[in-house]
Amino acid sequence: MNRRSFLGSAVAGALASAAAPPAAKMIGIQVGAVSFVDEGVEKVLDVFQKEASVNTLFIATFTFGRGIAGRQVPGQPLPDHGRQEYDTATFKGGSYTRVHAQYYTETVIRDFRAPDLGDFDVLEAVLPAARKRGLKTICWFEDVWSRDVPNVEKAQERQLDGRNSTNLCFNNPNYRNWLLATVEDYTRSHEIDGIMWGSERQGAFADALGASHGGSGRDPARVTCFCEFCESKARERGIDPARARAGFQALASFVAGARQGKRPIDGYYVALWRLILRYPELLAWEMLWTDSLRETYSAIYNKVKSIKPSVGVGWHIWHNNSFSPIYRAEQDLSELSRYSDFLKMVMYHNCGGERMASYIRSVGATMYGDVPPQELLDFHNRVLDYKSERSLAEIPKSGLTADYVYREARRAREALNGTRTQLWPGIDIDIPTAPASSKSTPNGTRDAVIAAFRAGADGVILSRKYSEMRLANLAGAGAATRQPA
Ligand SMILES: [Zn+2]
Repeated sequence: MNRRSFLGSAVAGALASAAAPPAAKMIGIQVGAVSFVDEGVEKVLDVFQKEASVNTLFIATFTFGRGIAGRQVPGQPLPDHGRQEYDTATFKGGSYTRVHAQYYTETVIRDFRAPDLGDFDVLEAVLPAARKRGLKTICWFEDVWSRDVPNVEKAQERQLDGRNSTNLCFNNPNYRNWLLATVEDYTRSHEIDGIMWGSERQGAFADALGASHGGSGRDPARVTCFCEFCESKARERGIDPARARAGFQALASFVAGARQGKRPIDGYYVALWRLILRYPELLAWEMLWTDSLRETYSAIYNKVKSIKPSVGVGWHIWHNNSFSPIYRAEQDLSELSRYSDFLKMVMYHNCGGERMASYIRSVGATMYGDVPPQELLDFHNRVLDYKSERSLAEIPKSGLTADYVYREARRAREALNGTRTQLWPGIDIDIPTAPASSKSTPNGTRDAVIAAFRAGADGVILSRKYSEMRLANLAGAGAATRQPA
């Protein structure tokens, strides 16, 4: 359906009765630098305000990933705006705003400016226009790196197999200081309203078990982190790194065997418990990683507040929170609220079906090798409190429901009650899925946004990036914000 016919039918009523969007609600959209270059700053902002009542920009300022920067992911259909060609040859990643060297004296990572768009500085280009329109701007960056950055090997995590990871270690001063330097640079160099950072990773125990969507591709020999800084921090906690390594070697053997269908005599689940009981270091190492992430959040928060308290600071919380009970247990919102002005809890309903199925298949080949897949999904729906979702065969094609968004938003709302942390669910608009899987629709987007607000969310963040969104689906979010309360 093209945009004209969509506007002519589905939302005509809503638009006709349009009231002003709820003033107190934050309506945000994630957007990368390339969209402003390709389409023009004023034109992009026009679309955001007219189609989706956007009042806050989440500008991707740093990443080496295609999830939030660059044009459409190659292989996925190009949306109905922007340059109609893929940026396969030019996309590199890095910082899309100028790097002010004076802030990076305590780290060896200093050369990370993205070359993709020449001298274009997305904050210098967009901030004045945004401010003139009364739009707020939040710098949005993520924990996604490249091996090509000069000196980056001095900040990388160490895998169980002894090799360096592409990911950087929160306990390595070169990374910790880079993070603090980056938020100081953003805060001092520009009149911004906030900073959001995201890390879509977890500790070695959950990672080894493949306990995430896409987890079946995780190699248990490559879990992290066993660098000198993490081992020293472990010893301070009374955890023996040698015992942890032995435990993870045993866990890696268990996972490799399970994926080959080699059933332990007592079954997969019992065998895993035997390992945990033998090596409590497995869980201690998982929590060491999780605490290190929390300390990183806290350090970033305190750094920004020490410079300019009015700049909001918050976190993008990975979609795995919707699938893995282990990861959900680690996202203790009352703990996170101590250093969070806002939380973007990812609640991507459309790609959520495909991702939930991927998660189930992954843990169904390791810790739950004895449980039939549909039973395993039923169990997760029960313990994660999802009521209206379809069967394992159907959810990739149907996506998850607006009821999923409502339940997730309501749960987060209740967990945050009594805190000052704002709840801003992340809403899926055209996040790529497999050809046969569910695709975003205007009504699906509209219903997800309405569900988030009905559950008491303080705002929504339209995700992941404008350069992959179709205009009609974006307008679905706009229709929701114009619904009478
Ligand atoms: Zn480390």
